[in-house]
Amino acid sequence: SMTTGAAPLDASKLKITRTKTPSQPKPNDELVFGKTMTDHMLTIEWDRTNGWAVPEIKPYSTLNLDPACCVFHYGFELFEGLKAYRTPDDKITMFRPDMNMKRMNKSAARICLPTFDSQELIALIGKLIQQDKHLVPKGTGYSLYIRPTMIGTTDSLGVSVPDKALLFVIASPVGPYYKTGFKAVRLEATDYATRAWPGGVGDKKLGANYAPCILPQLQAAGRGYQQNLWLFGPEKNITEVGTMNVFFAFQDKKTGKKELVTAPLDGTILEGVTRDSILELAREKLDPSEWEINERYYSINEVAERAAKGELLEAFGSGTAAVVSPIKAIGWQGNDIDVPLLPGEQSGPLTKQLASWIAAIQYGKEQHGNWSQV
Ligand code: PMP
Repeated sequence: SMTTGAAPLDASKLKITRTKTPSQPKPNDELVFGKTMTDHMLTIEWDRTNGWAVPEIKPYSTLNLDPACCVFHYGFELFEGLKAYRTPDDKITMFRPDMNMKRMNKSAARICLPTFDSQELIALIGKLIQQDKHLVPKGTGYSLYIRPTMIGTTDSLGVSVPDKALLFVIASPVGPYYKTGFKAVRLEATDYATRAWPGGVGDKKLGANYAPCILPQLQAAGRGYQQNLWLFGPEKNITEVGTMNVFFAFQDKKTGKKELVTAPLDGTILEGVTRDSILELAREKLDPSEWEINERYYSINEVAERAAKGELLEAFGSGTAAVVSPIKAIGWQGNDIDVPLLPGEQSGPLTKQLASWIAAIQYGKEQHGNWSQV
C-alpha cells in the first residue's frame, strides 16, 4: 500500500455471497468472445486512508458510480487479460498469472492507482474461478478469459491523484479465436497513426491506449485489411499488430541461417505474456544451429526487401486471446507484401509448432516450470 497504516490486500478476509440463480453452461459452439460472463464477480474497494477493504465475491451486477468519478473524465483505468484452462484430469489452471499481476501493478503505479501483493490477487481470482468452475468450458481451444480491472473512483472533477479506487475481476467462458482453426490475416502497415512512443505508456495496459486505435483499424478495414501493423518513427520500425505482439521469421539466403525476430521491450511495446512464452520456448526448443532468436529493431523496409529476396518465411501475432495469429499479407505503400503460405495452408510450420507447444502446456498435457497454476 502507498500509505503507512493503510491495510494491504488480504485474500484471507474474503467475503462470499453466492448467487441464488446459478446459470447453466452454454454449449461450446455458442460462446462468443467476451459476451457471456460468469455468475460472480470479485470487487475490492481501496481508499488512501484505509487501504484495501474486504475483498468480496458476489453475484455479477452493474456498478453504481458517481458520474464525477475520475475514471469517466481522465481515464484512470487499467486492465489485464489472462486465461484459465480445464486440464484432462479436470483441474483448472491459470496460465502465468504472476506475469499479469506484475504488469497490472506496473500499470497501476504509472497512473497513481494503488499497487497490491500479486499473490493475494491470484488467490482471490482462484476463489472467483472456484465459484463458477462449472462454467469453465471443456475442450482444446476453450477456456475462461479473466479480466482484472482497476478504476479511479474519486468523485471530483479536479484532476489529481485518485484517493479512491475499485479493483474488480470478471470472467467470460470463451472458445477458440478462430473457430475453424487458424485463419491468416491481412495487415495494413500503418504510419499515419502511432500506437505508442518513447516516454509514453505503450508498455502499460491502460484503457487509454486502446480507444484511439479503433479508428485506424476501421480505416484499414475500409482498404481490406483486418488489423494495423503499427510502425514507429522515421525508420518505420515494426512494433505490434492490432492488440498483439508480432514476430517475423527470416532465412538468410547466403548462410541458410533462420531468424525469429520481435521488437525489443523499449517502453513502446506491451510486455506480452504470450510473447515472453514464445521467446522462452523458441530459445529452449529450436535447434540453435538452425535458428537465431532475436529481440531487435527491424523495419517494414527490411521486411519488404527480404520478402522480395525470398527471405521472408513466416509472420504471426501473439496474444492471450488468439495465442498465435498467422499473417498472410501486409499492405505497404500501395502494394501487398505476401507472406509465403503453401496452398491450402493458413500458417507456416514454425507458427504451428509454437502454437502447439504453448497449447500443450496450457491444456496440461505438458508441464513447464510454474506456468500453470492450479
Ligand atoms: N500488445 C497489446 C497492445 C495488447 O493489448 C496485448 C494483449 N494483452 C498484447 C500485446 C499481448 O499480450 P499478452 O500476450 O499478455 O496477451
